[in-house]
Amino acid sequence: MIHIGSIARSTPARMLATAVGIGLFTYVMLLATATTAVAYTLLGCAYDSGSISPITYRFFSISDSDIETGFVEAEVDWDLTSAPGYFDECSICLDPEINVTDDYYEDNNYAQVAYSCDGDDTFSGNEVNMQFNTKYDLDEDENQVIAMHEMGHAYGLDHVTGSCHAMTVPIRWTCGDRPSFDDVNGVDYIY
Ligand SMILES: [Zn+2]
Repeated sequence: MIHIGSIARSTPARMLATAVGIGLFTYVMLLATATTAVAYTLLGCAYDSGSISPITYRFFSISDSDIETGFVEAEVDWDLTSAPGYFDECSICLDPEINVTDDYYEDNNYAQVAYSCDGDDTFSGNEVNMQFNTKYDLDEDENQVIAMHEMGHAYGLDHVTGSCHAMTVPIRWTCGDRPSFDDVNGVDYIY
C-alpha cells in the first residue's frame, strides 16, 4: 500500500481516478502506453530495411577489453527485445555495417557515431562508424550502457530527454540494461 500511495502522489488526477477504478496492473500498463507515442525521435536515416538481420559489426583496434565486453552485452540486451533485426559480430568481414573502434579524445562524450545519409534516407554505404572514448576508463557495465545507447543510434534513433530510455541524454546510469518500450517502438517505426 505504501508503494501504491507513493506512485499516486506524483500522478495526475485523471490517471489516478482511472487507476482507482481498474486496479494497479492495468494502471501500470496505461502509464507505459501514455508515454509511448512521443518518446522516441529519429536520426532521419537508417539501414536499408532488408539488411538488419543481421546488422553486422566488427571490432577494429579496440584497446580496452571492457568496451568490447560491454558492447557484446549490449547486443544481447537489444536482441532480447522484440525490435526487428538483430546484431551479429562479423570478425573477419571486410565491410561490416558497424565499424567499432576506440580512441582517446578530449571531447566530453563517452562515444560517438558517425554516418551520412543518402537521398533515400539510408546510411551511406549502409554503415556507421562507432568510436568509444577511452578518456573516462569506463568499466564493463558502464560500457554496456553506452553501447546500448550507441546501438540505438545505429538503428536510426536520436536522443530523447526524460525517463529511462536507451536514448535518454544525459545518460541515466541507474535505469537498468534493457532498451525501453519506446526505444523498441522507435525501431519498429523505422523498419
Ligand atoms: Zn547519443
